[in-house]
Amino acid sequence: MPELPEVETVRRGLQPVMEGAKILNAEARRPDLRFPFQPDFVARLKGQVVTGLGRRAKYLMADLASGDVLLMHLGMSGSFRVIKPESDAQPGAFHYPKAKDSAHDHVLFRMSSGADIVFNDPRRFGYMKVIARNALDDEPLLRGLGPEPLGNEFDAAMLARSCAGKTTSLKAALLDQRVVAGLGNIYVCEALHRSHLSPRRIAATLSTKKGEPTDHAKRLVGAIHTVLNDAIKAGGSSLRDHRQTTGELGYFQHSFRVYDREGETCTTPRCGGTIKRFTQNGRSTFWCPKCQK
Ligand SMILES: [Zn+2]
Repeated sequence: MPELPEVETVRRGLQPVMEGAKILNAEARRPDLRFPFQPDFVARLKGQVVTGLGRRAKYLMADLASGDVLLMHLGMSGSFRVIKPESDAQPGAFHYPKAKDSAHDHVLFRMSSGADIVFNDPRRFGYMKVIARNALDDEPLLRGLGPEPLGNEFDAAMLARSCAGKTTSLKAALLDQRVVAGLGNIYVCEALHRSHLSPRRIAATLSTKKGEPTDHAKRLVGAIHTVLNDAIKAGGSSLRDHRQTTGELGYFQHSFRVYDREGETCTTPRCGGTIKRFTQNGRSTFWCPKCQK
């Protein structure tokens, strides 16, 4: 499942062909993805200029000149492809003319920038919805999302406040989208390893009795920033479904220190421990019992 760095990578890939361009045509090739398309989905997109392409947690948000926002979620297996006329081809990351399997091309945007943007989603857990910008606060999909992990709001003090009194594990707290938005299993495992904190640690230990952030909280926030920024720099990750779809937007090789490395030697200098895996809240947790306390 794409996580925040992958979604941010996709955003950066789409930005040059979407921002400032008009949607000349929009097509939904089936009645639904995870949810049915709104009856006026296409009508609200056609002819609209995209004034900006942003991201909130794992949602891409295209601002339209009409005052609407197009909300897009990749789900489990969604990806975008940008098709440009060959003469226009630019070397580098985001030009991939060939469809992998066009049977799963479900949404198409023809942009005035000359690009066709295709949304492909074999498993159809992705979704798109057009919402009036002034109604975003009431949107159930967005309501209750915590701070952006790379935003200014999210710091050790805020994390400590959110975790104060919480008896759940640190891992569960970090996966709670109300605590911090957009973190998933992979980057939580990675951030905990880099900050040398056990995934089983009680979340409340990030906060002193007075609710101040402990050194652990500061270390953890630093690790979250580092791991996300590194992954964005590397262009997101290549995983599972995405591993075979080489050439599609946003999925590149990225090496993890702990995720999916069960049985391997810990990469922490002078640790020498072995990476273990166990199931926690229904998900695989990878960690080093020797240097994560
Ligand atoms: Zn270790």
